Amino acid sequence: MIPAIRGTHDILPGEVEKWRWVERTAQALCERYGYAEVRTPIIEREELFAKGTGETTDIVQKEMYAFTDKGGERVTLRPEATPSMVRAYVEHNLEQALPAAKLYAIGPMFRYERPQKGRYRQFHQLDVEVFGINDPAVDAEVIDLAWALVAALRIPQAELVINSVGCATCRPKFHEALLAALGQDLPKLCADCQRRAATNPLRIYDCKVEADQPIIDRLPHAVDYLCEPCATHFAAVRAQLDAWALPWRLSHRLVRGLDYYTRTTFEILGQTLGAQNALLGGGRYDGLVRTLGGPDRTGIGFAAGLERLVLALPDDAPIEAGARAFVVAIGEEGRGEALTLLRELREAGLAAQMELEARGVRAQMKRADRLAARVTIIVGGDELARGEVTLRDMGTGDQRAVPRAEAVSAVREALAGPMVGAGS
Ligand code: AMP
Repeated sequence: MIPAIRGTHDILPGEVEKWRWVERTAQALCERYGYAEVRTPIIEREELFAKGTGETTDIVQKEMYAFTDKGGERVTLRPEATPSMVRAYVEHNLEQALPAAKLYAIGPMFRYERPQKGRYRQFHQLDVEVFGINDPAVDAEVIDLAWALVAALRIPQAELVINSVGCATCRPKFHEALLAALGQDLPKLCADCQRRAATNPLRIYDCKVEADQPIIDRLPHAVDYLCEPCATHFAAVRAQLDAWALPWRLSHRLVRGLDYYTRTTFEILGQTLGAQNALLGGGRYDGLVRTLGGPDRTGIGFAAGLERLVLALPDDAPIEAGARAFVVAIGEEGRGEALTLLRELREAGLAAQMELEARGVRAQMKRADRLAARVTIIVGGDELARGEVTLRDMGTGDQRAVPRAEAVSAVREALAGPMVGAGS
C-alpha cells in the first residue's frame, strides 16, 4: 500500500456530504451578496507569492511547495488565493469587464506546515475579494458575509474579532512606538520575534511563545496610533457592524500573518476547535494590486478554511442523506419490472437506487436501510400480477399498494411529504 502524503487527506462518503453542504452554502451566500466565482490555477509562478504574500512571511520563507519545473521555471503550488485573485484581476482587466470586482473562489491550498488537528498541508479555502471599493461599507459587507456564512452553517460559539493595523502613513509611527516600548526587553523575546522586530515589528503580535506573552501584553496598540483617515475609516466600519447588530470584539493582537494588510483586519474564531481556532480571517490590503503590477486599487477580502468549517459544524447539521428511494424486486419477473421502474424514477428526476446483484428481499431491505432510503417500492409477486406495487415508508414502516402506472408520482409525493401512507 502506498499511503497518502502526510498532511493531505481523502474526503470520503459520509464526510463529503458535509463538505458539499459547506460549499453550497458558501456559493449561495456569495451569489446572494453579489460576488462572482473565479477559478484560478493551483500552480503559479513562485514570484507571485514572494511579491504578493511577502518575502518575510512564514508562508514564503518556510511553507511553499516551490520547485523548478522541467522548463527551468520557478513555480509553486499556491499557498493562498489572494495573490492569484489579484493577478487574474490585473491580467484580464476585470475592472473593465465586470460591473463590480467582487469575486470569490473555492479550492485547495498547499503549505508545508506541521500537521495537527485543523492544520494540514493540503487544505481548502473559500476566498472572497473586493477590488477598487474604498468605502468602509465594503469592509462591513465583507465581514457581514463572513458572519452570515458561519451563521448559515449553524456553527456554535463563533466569535468575531476585529482590529485596524493602519496604513503606510501611520504604521511607521506605530513601529517606532513598539520598538521603543520593547527597549531592553527585545533580546528576551524568541528568535522569530527578533526577526520580526527587524522586518515588520507589528507581527510580534503573532507570537504564540508562552514566555514572550507578558512582554507583548505591555506593548502599545495599533488602534491608538492610527492617522486621522484610518481612524475615521475604522470608526465607520464599527458603526456599520453595530447598525447590523454584528457582535464584534476589538482585539489588539489581531495583526494577521501576512505583510500586505492595511487598516481593517478581522477573524472569526470557533471556540469548539481547540488550538487552531481561526475559522476564517482577512482584511484590507490597499497596496497589493499595485505591488503586483496593477492599477492603484484598494482590496479587501477573507479566506475561510473549509476543513475547519466542516470540523465546527453542529451534530445536527442538515446534511443530505444518500438514496431517497430504493426499489426492491421480488423474484426474477419482479426484477425486470423493478429495473424498468428504477429508470423511470431517475428519468423523473428522483434519486433512486436498487440492489443490482439479484438477492433476497431481506438483503435488499437491509441495503435500503443502510442507504438511509426514505421510501422503498417493492415490485413483484401477486401484487405485480394485479398491476400494483407496494410503497413502504422506511421511517414509520407504513405500507400501501399503488397502481404500477402511478408508482412514479406516488414516490414523488412520498418524498416531498412527511410520511407515506398517512391517511390511507
Ligand atoms: P490564512 O490564509 O493563513 O489567513 O488563513 C485563512 C484561513 O484558512 C484560516 O483561518 C484557516 O481556517 C485556514 N487555514 C490556514 N492554514 C491552514 C492549514 N494549514 N490547514 C487548514 N486550514 C488552514
